[in-house]
Amino acid sequence: MSDPFRIDGKRALVTGANTGIGQAIAVGLAGAGAHVVAAGRSSCAETVAAIVDAGGSAEELTLDLADPAAGAAVLESAGDLDILVNNAGIIRRADSVDYAEADWDDVMDVNLKAVFLMCQAFARGAIVRGTGGRIVNIASLLSFQGGIRVPAYTASKHGVAGLTKLFANEWSANGINVNAVAPGYIATNNTTALREDPKRNGEILSRIPAGRWGDAADIAGAVTFLCAPASGYVTGTVLNVDGGWLAR
Ligand code: NAP
Repeated sequence: MSDPFRIDGKRALVTGANTGIGQAIAVGLAGAGAHVVAAGRSSCAETVAAIVDAGGSAEELTLDLADPAAGAAVLESAGDLDILVNNAGIIRRADSVDYAEADWDDVMDVNLKAVFLMCQAFARGAIVRGTGGRIVNIASLLSFQGGIRVPAYTASKHGVAGLTKLFANEWSANGINVNAVAPGYIATNNTTALREDPKRNGEILSRIPAGRWGDAADIAGAVTFLCAPASGYVTGTVLNVDGGWLAR
């Protein structure tokens, strides 16, 4: 009997796969049997080595989403993909009254416009081939909450949740399932400053029902599920992986 949680033979591209959540997703998908195209603006050699050392299959691809159209064009050179994970993201903080237009544009380009163009490029290929596929976009708690001093990030992540549902409406009939995963507070480079501030760390931990920060591997598990046959009837959803934060 085939294992509905395996994705052997599938070809998966993960953006921002050099570090943090993206690296864990790449390792997770490879562990479930996929060939992984680890894509990023920084070298993904460490990720590829970790996958190959564990007996998996991977390659790296240079992809800078600061120019979203150029980034999406690179997707064409990634071979016929079965799975796309849009993980790359940036955050810029400032009071909204002082927020710089350039910061707004930079964040929206990487976090939202690039997601749109990458999904579009992936779907065009999958629809022409008639193969179907899986897209998983990395959303955020700020796909649901407002946050403070991060207007572009909040707008972009609300947009990611909306686009995920729209794409599911348009492409599920073509066999392309489109979902998002919304990570809670995850221990990555991105959150080192928060974890090292005893006051903020205490405030955050006291609100997480699970009582701990998430690991990047927690996100990888959910993404792998959404790429596997086991989730074949799941599309258009945003799966919160937050230790219960949003239930509070
Ligand atoms: P991270 O360690 O800062 O990783 C971000 C990734 O995005 C890096 O690989 C980064 O590459 C890549 N990236 C940034 N700009 C790029 C560009 N122009 N082109 C290509 N790649 C680019 O952060 P993380 O915590 O793993 O976050 C990954 C995703 O999860 C993001 O979408 C983030 O918004 C989301 N998220 C994280 C948390 C959390 O608690 N950590 C919570 C909610 C959502 P470089 O290394 O080259 O900069």
